[in-house]
Amino acid sequence: MKKNKYPLSWAKDNFSIKIFCSIPNIATGIILKADKTYFIIDPGDGILRDLNKEISIPEILSISDVFVTHGHHDHIGGVWSLLTYLRVMNKKTPLTIYFPKGCIEIVHIHNAFNKVYGKTLPYKINLKQIISSKVFRSNNVSIKPFNVIHKEYQSNKNYTIQVPALGFNFSFEDKTICYGGDTAFCNSLVKHAKNADLAIIEAGHDDDTTADMHMTMSEAKSIGYSAKEFFLVHVPE
Ligand SMILES: [Zn+2]
Ligand SMILES: [Zn+2]
Repeated sequence: MKKNKYPLSWAKDNFSIKIFCSIPNIATGIILKADKTYFIIDPGDGILRDLNKEISIPEILSISDVFVTHGHHDHIGGVWSLLTYLRVMNKKTPLTIYFPKGCIEIVHIHNAFNKVYGKTLPYKINLKQIISSKVFRSNNVSIKPFNVIHKEYQSNKNYTIQVPALGFNFSFEDKTICYGGDTAFCNSLVKHAKNADLAIIEAGHDDDTTADMHMTMSEAKSIGYSAKEFFLVHVPE
């Protein structure tokens, strides 16, 4: 498989998304734009570098929402530096972080951050645990979270456990982008990717991976083709 050339960009009307990076075990980083609103999705390591290349500092400070699909380091490695950067740059408006219920990584990063900087923080951080698949809205964007199936190895690699993991459909005006996060082949992703204007589908399976962790290339493509356009991401390099 030839390597994806990041960033991957897609835009229709006033709705766009840019995937700066999506490499398993290394980093993910995505920015979504709907009219003048920016969201960050899966702020892995490198997110500050990529945001600063892409948009101005006032635009970065205006970001209202961060969406986290799950707590693996390649999806949240940039959270601490993002929160600290927004403090240093004197963000005033609130920041909401959406994450799956049971994702203790975000809770603990937030607790530690609060301990260190809580007293001198110029902006408010709202943590929103997602507990249902109900649609909600932020800044004229509809967000539909859905559960996916994603596992991780336990230390001795003898067995795997399910981690709290979500995909999100983002809809603005009449367009929908489906981002499945990290997932094995599952019906909820099949359902949410179907007819999406863009589906971002992981194909992270390699010979080292057990089933129920990532998708093979052909599984990912079979879902991708049900959308109007698709990107295959999280392909091992
Ligand atoms: Zn990952
Ligand atoms: Zn993962």
